[in-house]
Amino acid sequence: MSELKETIIALQAQSKALEPDESVRNNYVSKVHDYANQFLNSLSHAPAYNSSNETQGIFQVNGNKKSITEILDIYTAEVAQKGINAASGSHLGYIPGGGIYTSALADYIADVTNEYAGMYYASPGAVAMENELLNWLKSIFGFPESAIGNLTSGGSIANLIALAAARDKYSVTAQRIPKSVIYVSNQVHHCINKALRIIGLVEVIVRHVDLDEASRINPDDLEQKVKSDLANGLFPFLVIASAGTTDTGAIDPLEPIAKIAKAYNLWYHIDAAYGGFFVLTEEKRTLLKGMALADSLVVDPHKGLFLPYGIGAVLVKDKEAVYHSNHYRANYMQDTLNDDSPINPADVSPELTKHFRGFRMWLPLQLHGIEPFVACLREKLLLAAYFRAELLKLGFMLGPEPDLTVSYFWYSTGNDQENEFNEHLMKEIHNDGEVFLSSTKISGKFVIRIAVLSFRTKLETIDRAIKMIDKALTKVKAVF
Ligand SMILES: *Cc1c(COP(=O)(O)O)cnc(C)c1O
Repeated sequence: MSELKETIIALQAQSKALEPDESVRNNYVSKVHDYANQFLNSLSHAPAYNSSNETQGIFQVNGNKKSITEILDIYTAEVAQKGINAASGSHLGYIPGGGIYTSALADYIADVTNEYAGMYYASPGAVAMENELLNWLKSIFGFPESAIGNLTSGGSIANLIALAAARDKYSVTAQRIPKSVIYVSNQVHHCINKALRIIGLVEVIVRHVDLDEASRINPDDLEQKVKSDLANGLFPFLVIASAGTTDTGAIDPLEPIAKIAKAYNLWYHIDAAYGGFFVLTEEKRTLLKGMALADSLVVDPHKGLFLPYGIGAVLVKDKEAVYHSNHYRANYMQDTLNDDSPINPADVSPELTKHFRGFRMWLPLQLHGIEPFVACLREKLLLAAYFRAELLKLGFMLGPEPDLTVSYFWYSTGNDQENEFNEHLMKEIHNDGEVFLSSTKISGKFVIRIAVLSFRTKLETIDRAIKMIDKALTKVKAVF
């Protein structure tokens, strides 16, 4: 045999470990399956937060092999049991995550089959499925069929795609940047600021519109600011509203802002990463229907549809504006050219090769239908109301009636130690860890947030949270 062939055969013997045979696969799957069951079965009594954050350098990659059992043990001790347990229903901080199990099954199949979901040519099935999901999103958010969209890794990239489209629609290029104006609330998500930097708009003028007492954009102030900027020869081109801010869950007045955007020819972007899917509930449909008036909209199925982390979505009405930055034809892709093929995800996103993330959304919607998702969203709205009612009984002060499921509370000490008192209370709650809450500052006041969005948060979770908060309150009162 030639030396070349011998070497290839020797390498084959080594590389075949990458293709485990069926019995080895079965062993892996059964271990992983056992692990998943154990994890899920222990979730209801596992702490939502573990403040220990040392990781013993155990993740070092050095070529030493470990068994699947050792790997799962490391995962349990060093990953799953540290920090915030994002799969837990007792996670009531920031914006809680989801993680419905049936999505994981879809991810498994998407990974095993390794569908190429960037181009229709490569996987007409995967791309058609993602496009149907986007059609469904257009229908529930009142976007026209002609709108374009993309399933992204999350809300941040979705916002980036939308803002780049706004920039290109209005030709905000170098010369124009210093005179171009964007209108936002100071409650806007920080990924908007990141996106503006990434897309080269760090030098645009950003106006912070006045807010009302519930932290919503004041449309009159918006209009005043636009008018005055126009009078001063500036170039207003973009207004950004939130449908569910991170701090307080506030929904900006979507329809009045739409009117102003239309009257002054501004691109209207709505970041509904947190709140968008509440449009599916009868309770919030009216409040959120103004989303249909946006030029671009961002939602996050890994929040409002309870999917595991790694899926956001953007819808944009003007296809050409999105294509300007994302549609590109390289010579080595000439085989993929076909003018009447459906929209390619790669033409709507900075990503070319990407995870086939549509399946993790499609499979649960097909398997369970839409009804349980809507029921779950309604349940969250009512749980947030219940949480507030119980906090009131404990003597806490509450933030304004929430638009959705994020709210805040604080304990009033009636003296200048109020912030310190509530900071202590937050620490005490974190040390306990049974239920996880986070804090924020509202007009300089330290407040504790409640955010109900995990599909696993139940009545019983809120009762436990209340007990834990009561216990922490007693402790802090004893030292103040
Ligand atoms: C979560 C969130 C984002 C960021 O989305 P990621 O999925 O974390 O990238 C943006 N805006 C709002 C309002 C959010 O709640």
